[in-house]
Amino acid sequence: MIVKTAEFICSNTQISKLPPPVKAEYAFIGRSNVGKSSLINMLTAKKGLAKTSQTPGKTQLINHFFINDSWYIVDLPGYGYARASKTNKANWNKFIHNYLDKRESLQCVMVLIDSRLEPQKIDLEFCNWLGEKGLSFVLVFTKADKQSSVKTDQNIAKFKKSLTETFEEFPQYFVTSSELQSGRDEILGFIDNINKS
Ligand code: GDP
Repeated sequence: MIVKTAEFICSNTQISKLPPPVKAEYAFIGRSNVGKSSLINMLTAKKGLAKTSQTPGKTQLINHFFINDSWYIVDLPGYGYARASKTNKANWNKFIHNYLDKRESLQCVMVLIDSRLEPQKIDLEFCNWLGEKGLSFVLVFTKADKQSSVKTDQNIAKFKKSLTETFEEFPQYFVTSSELQSGRDEILGFIDNINKS
C-alpha cells in the first residue's frame, strides 16, 4: 500500500468524542517508550505526525490519524509507566479497555513489544486480556536494529513460549525498526489485505 495522505484528525480524552465508527481502525498500543510514535511516523512517512518521546504516563489521549482518506491509525496511550500512580493506572485500564471493547470499527490491535526485552508480565497480561475479549491482535516487535537478529529471534521465541501457555496459536507478528525503516511494507500490506476483504 502506498500512503498518499496521513492527516491528524483529533486527540481525545473521552470515548464519546471519538470520530464516528464508520471507517476501519487499527489501534497501536504498547508500553511507554516502546517506539510507537516512531513506528506510526515510519508507516505514514511523516516525521512529526505522532509526537515522539513525550513524558510518558501523563495525558491519556486517543489520537486519530486518517490515512488515504479511508482508514484510521489510532494511537493509544502507552501502558506500564513505572512512575504512574495507582489511580493513573486504573484510569488507563478503564479508558483503554472501554475503547477496545466497544469500538465497532476496530479491525485489529497492533501490540508493540520491545524486541530487546525478555517477555514482560504487563505485555503478556494485556495480550491475554485481548484474547479473553476475543479481540483480533498482532504483535509488532520494535527496535530490532538495537541487537542482532539472533537475539531478536530468541526473545520472540521466549514470548511465544509464554503466550502459548494460554493461546493455542501464536498470533501473527512483525519485526520492525523505525531506524532502518524495516517492517513497513509488511504491516501496511497486512492492513491493506484486511481493508480489501
Ligand atoms: P513511544 O513512547 O512508544 O511513542 O516511543 P518513541 O517512538 O517516542 O521512541 C522512544 C525512544 O526510542 C526514542 O528515543 C526513539 O528515538 C527510540 N526508538 C524508537 N523506535 C526505534 C527503533 O526502531 N530503533 C532505534 N534504535 N530507536 C528507536
